[in-house]
Amino acid sequence: MGFAPSPPGGVQASGATPPDAGCTNCETVLRGPVCHSCGQAVDALPVSAPAFLRAQATALLGYDNRLWRTLALLVARPGELTRAYLAGRCVPYLSPLGTYLLAAGAFFVLHTLEPFVRFTPATRAFSASLSAVTVGGDLSEEQVRLLGAAGVPLALFGERFSATATSLLPLLLLAFIALFALVSRVLFPRAAQGGLRHGVFALHFGAFFLALSSLDRALAIVGVSAIPLAVAYSVATAVYLTLAIRRVYGHSWTRQIGTAVVLLVTFYALLAAWLSTVLALAVFWALRASGTA
Ligand SMILES: [Zn+2]
Repeated sequence: MGFAPSPPGGVQASGATPPDAGCTNCETVLRGPVCHSCGQAVDALPVSAPAFLRAQATALLGYDNRLWRTLALLVARPGELTRAYLAGRCVPYLSPLGTYLLAAGAFFVLHTLEPFVRFTPATRAFSASLSAVTVGGDLSEEQVRLLGAAGVPLALFGERFSATATSLLPLLLLAFIALFALVSRVLFPRAAQGGLRHGVFALHFGAFFLALSSLDRALAIVGVSAIPLAVAYSVATAVYLTLAIRRVYGHSWTRQIGTAVVLLVTFYALLAAWLSTVLALAVFWALRASGTA
């Protein structure tokens, strides 16, 4: 690659910047296809609409099938993605946050098509079901009386309940990661790379759990939802978490299983607390909309 100054009108007909024109971002003289000073690729600026779309997909999902490589490792070898990242093998895979956000995005979209929360007006029962975990209860007599007195039909309340759950879903997804990392910190106070290890592990396990929950929603959309499936999710989640803890933290089998149980119970409690909040807010907003609160 030469460093001779560009000829007049040096930009080629293809639209690509010739290497001797310097980096278009920081003007550093280039020594290869990627700027060694700022990291921008020589062909960073797309030259056509299709190239633009390809570049956006690449920026979001990664180069060289990075998305599929990440997903395959995440699912096939519990904890290995976390270990690879902590060992400094970062480039072959999507970032931990990127992996989690993609799984959360897929789950969010599928939830809007087939909500994971349910309210049945006939039985007044409500529930939230995230693949392996289901929590729920019944609307109290007092709540039913208040809604009745305010003239809010239970079917209408059901719609408000779903809408409230959707608006509070990002909060649940955020709280899940924070709580998971916090509990890991309490359980493994002397783990190497402490906070980093707990955070990356929380994001990777969260991504796996939401990918499984997305599969659950996708199957529900096409009408597949059976008790054996719920059992399979529970077993898959518990086994996955135990194996992942083994890879990420080591320790004895009893400690791994104990940790997995504590983490799952914590998550169960978080989901229950979130659902209670959704229910209370849905009742409050239904009453306020009818002008009685
Ligand atoms: Zn540069």
